Amino acid sequence: MLQIRPGARYRCFGDGLCCTDIHSIGPLTRPEVRRLAQIEPGLTERNPRIDGVVITPRAGACAHLTESGCRVHAALGLDGKPGVCRRFPYRLVRTPVGLRLSTEHRCPCRTLGDRPPIDLADAIASTRTASGRMVADLVVADTEDLRAYLAREPELLRDPLAAIDVEPFPPLEDVTWNDVAHHYRGKLDGSACGDALAWFGDMVLALHGHPLRQLRARPWKPAFDRAEARSMATEPPDTILADWIADELWGLEWTERGTFEQARRDLATRLAVAREVLRRLAGVRADRAAAEAVLIGEMAGAAPLWASVVRAFR
Ligand code: SF4
Repeated sequence: MLQIRPGARYRCFGDGLCCTDIHSIGPLTRPEVRRLAQIEPGLTERNPRIDGVVITPRAGACAHLTESGCRVHAALGLDGKPGVCRRFPYRLVRTPVGLRLSTEHRCPCRTLGDRPPIDLADAIASTRTASGRMVADLVVADTEDLRAYLAREPELLRDPLAAIDVEPFPPLEDVTWNDVAHHYRGKLDGSACGDALAWFGDMVLALHGHPLRQLRARPWKPAFDRAEARSMATEPPDTILADWIADELWGLEWTERGTFEQARRDLATRLAVAREVLRRLAGVRADRAAAEAVLIGEMAGAAPLWASVVRAFR
């Protein structure tokens, strides 16, 4: 039985962020590569970072994304799309107590507007492979720390912001928070991903007393424009932040970076950064600003450097 976190809400509204360079569009299976080649050959390539074949990006987006949407979907229907496209923003996590569904929050369809509770049938259809298997993105080791967390999880998820109410920015072994900030700022490469990581670096510096002369371009603004236009229902920013933190806990990716106590300080730090983004976006509709802040906080946590930052907590 697939476990869904109570209160998690999502539906694909086609805001389109997932068809950009937010993630590698792969790995693709051989049949998927063959299907895509029927539409236009030569638009896949090997990506050494994920050790698999991906769709070649074009101008910061999938090469199959057109003004009128996904041409793979138009030609072959939902089932003809690569598994990675059907799966995002879902994640499957195998735990010692069963298979659970988590979601990424770098997707305004997940974070913004009047979205319904996650539909179990949609989640299963979106995450199973062509052969019907449910392959986990993460298999969590059975440790004492995990068992202790799981015993407390229902209580922690009732108030996720309180669950991580510890001091952010713990002292670091061998590096400083300024070093971390500059590393993230160094990720600027003209892509929206680079902008998001540089935003994170800027906010870390700002929270350590460095003046910020101006804000950078906001990553994936067109997708958030579409999300704001389609969503009449607004939510308080803390609801959006709490929903994100709840999935950071529930998704158990923190187990790859350390203990639950380290996770609390990690999340308190990224939450402080998200709150600073929110404060800097004062003229933006509050729920949208919170969704953009969550995206930056989640992107920073997914960057390869972050695991070593967490391990450097003293
Ligand atoms: S194949 Fe279609 S759904 Fe997948 S990333 Fe490209 S445009 Fe988006």
